[in-house]
Amino acid sequence: MTPVYLDNNATTQPDPRVVEAMLPYFTTHYGNAASHAHAFGWQAEEAIEKARGEVAALIGAAPKEIIWTSGATESDNLALKGVAEMYAARGEHFVTAATEHKAVLDAAKHLETWGKTVTVLGVDSCGQIDLDELVNALTDRTALVSIMLANNETGTLQPLAAISALCRARGILLHTDATQAVGKIPVDVNALGVDLLSLTAHKMHGPKGVGALYVRRRNPRVRLSPQMDGGGHERGFRSGTLNVPGIVGFGAAARLSQAEMDGAGARMAQMRDRLHAGIVRAVGNVSLNGHPTERLPNTLNLSFYGLDGEALLANLPDVALSSGSACTSASVEPSHVLKALGLSDRDAHSSLRFSLSRFTTEAEIDAVIDQIAQATQRLRALSVQTLVQC
Ligand SMILES: *Cc1c(COP(=O)(O)O)cnc(C)c1O
Repeated sequence: MTPVYLDNNATTQPDPRVVEAMLPYFTTHYGNAASHAHAFGWQAEEAIEKARGEVAALIGAAPKEIIWTSGATESDNLALKGVAEMYAARGEHFVTAATEHKAVLDAAKHLETWGKTVTVLGVDSCGQIDLDELVNALTDRTALVSIMLANNETGTLQPLAAISALCRARGILLHTDATQAVGKIPVDVNALGVDLLSLTAHKMHGPKGVGALYVRRRNPRVRLSPQMDGGGHERGFRSGTLNVPGIVGFGAAARLSQAEMDGAGARMAQMRDRLHAGIVRAVGNVSLNGHPTERLPNTLNLSFYGLDGEALLANLPDVALSSGSACTSASVEPSHVLKALGLSDRDAHSSLRFSLSRFTTEAEIDAVIDQIAQATQRLRALSVQTLVQC
């Protein structure tokens, strides 16, 4: 039996309609979008510009504000490093938060090797930053604030519009990694007041290896130093031959997510709550990690007290999901996100992340609840046995 896939915050199943839209660009429509001398190139360029409009529409941007990249990791790097270089005269100070994705945290760490200073804000037990702490961190040498819209482990949403107001009043640029939010909840760059926004196709039923960075063109017009030098593609922001099939797939994924967002969001939230209630009924001693309401509709992160997340995963062969631990080369580290929320190493190691998609069914949710009930019973019986033997 194929496992039930509840790891959609890691990646999603490409929508069959996305794959269908991409296929001609692997076979007959193989032109280079930068070839301006013939029909193959024009056809590719037309497809790229259609996709640019579709991705822009999903986030309320103008098509010219979308820069294609290889994914959100590259978008985050381009945003932070591109601002650091371009706005070096304005300031050398950067602000981010402890629960950010490693693509932001490690890029920020890299900036320190360039002589920049970085403030990493803490979060409360629900995963949100404190606005007063942000205000206190801002200086007249702050160039950029980078705060994610939705967290990938807990689904917690940050108060971006309020953060933006504070940055704007001081003329500080704001970047958000909106990778997990885009396609799941309404995202509008103007309502949020962000200057730069990262997104990626494979978290919204598109293909892997293609992403975008939104770069504001008006009020203010944001400039960036390119981090990839070459032919001057993407209006000089990012050189390199465009991944035409991938970008066509990204456009289709954006169009479908927008069309189906309301229904899919409501269904996912309902199934997520059914899963949560079923687990509480079957297991008892669990607690929710992240914000109870200011949260993505598809994400459920739970600590199973007294149980080890890795052991629980090993006893759930028919469910694909993630634990609150990350295997580094040397050891199993507790999640930096859950640690930032104040969880002990032990509680972080007892956590599992369930992330649903618009393809998740109620039957799958019920099957997962059954399997968790059985797995926790098995593990608890084992630990009782061990106690008796000792
Ligand atoms: C997945 C993810 C990324 C990385 O995106 P890639 O396209 O895989 O590079 C960055 N930020 C967040 C919040 C993510 O969830």
